[in-house]
Amino acid sequence: MGVWTYGFAVSGGLCVNGVFVCTALLRYNFLMKISAKETLGQKSTRASEIAKRLIRMYKRRKTVLDFGSPWECLVAVQLSAQCTDKRVNLVTPALFKKYKKIGDYALAPISELEKMIRSTGFYKNKARNIKAAAGKVVADFNGVLPSEMEDLLTLPGIARKSANVILFNAFDIISGVAVDTHVMRITKLLGLISKGAVGKPEKIEKELIELLPKKYWALFSLLITEHGREICIARRPKCGECRVRDLCEYGSTIKV
Ligand code: SF4
Repeated sequence: MGVWTYGFAVSGGLCVNGVFVCTALLRYNFLMKISAKETLGQKSTRASEIAKRLIRMYKRRKTVLDFGSPWECLVAVQLSAQCTDKRVNLVTPALFKKYKKIGDYALAPISELEKMIRSTGFYKNKARNIKAAAGKVVADFNGVLPSEMEDLLTLPGIARKSANVILFNAFDIISGVAVDTHVMRITKLLGLISKGAVGKPEKIEKELIELLPKKYWALFSLLITEHGREICIARRPKCGECRVRDLCEYGSTIKV
């Protein structure tokens, strides 16, 4: 067992291979490891430690978007693009009340749909995609939203990020790592992804899948997003308050 197989945290320190190590020494050790040429195995251990800490730091385990069925989850996820979850949750109650079945969305006049979701932004595209997706679910999947990644990807407006979110939140299926703007930005700061993957969601997801055990895939994405809203805020990350700073490539090199 190497130094990267740290055990568990206790007050003021950790138990490493049965030996108590104070947190200050551990932090130094992580800093040394990040600054040195990190192997894939070491990076994988660091990624898992980040995931574990995020799980301890944040209580959230599922999306904050409100929905009552897998289809409604898809609608809420579509509406959340470039929009706050809070705004989506204000819009969906009336929408879900008016359109009860998937077929109702397929038959809805586009102008009516647009009017109901207007405040979420990009409403023309969103209305068109939701209506077209409903039509496809009715035509190709007997009116039941599929729970397979490859089937979801055939629906208009659904890419891997949305499909991962829908599968986890509506079906409890862990299929991959949903890569949104927070995940793109913060995994770069953490030094978890390669230079070639920067700005490329599918490559980032592939690299994170290689680094993290499957049990962390969905939560990592969810909690990194939470961290991006609370602490690692775009353009003004609060590194001084960050509890994964010693594991972060960017944070461990700056003075706060
Ligand atoms: S140390 Fe700073 S840059 Fe790194 S994750 Fe924390 S807030 Fe973000």
